[in-house]
Amino acid sequence: MAISPELLEVLACPACKTPVEPVGESWLLCGACGRKYPVKDDIPIMLIEEGDKYRDTPVEELPDPGSL
Ligand SMILES: [Zn+2]
Repeated sequence: MAISPELLEVLACPACKTPVEPVGESWLLCGACGRKYPVKDDIPIMLIEEGDKYRDTPVEELPDPGSL
C-alpha cells in the first residue's frame, strides 16, 4: 500500500464523511456511497467530482490512475 496507515486513518469520503478503504494500491473506496477516489503519485485525490466519475465502475474494472 502506497498510502501510510496513519494517512488512511484520517481520510474520509468528502461527500458523506465515511472513512474510505483501500482497493489495491491506487484506489480508495467509500463503502457507503460507492464513490472511488484515485491515488496518483501516492496522493489521494479526495474530490467529490473525482469520486463521482467512478461511482458506477466495479472495483475490478477501475483503471490505473497513472493512465488517467
Ligand atoms: Zn461516500
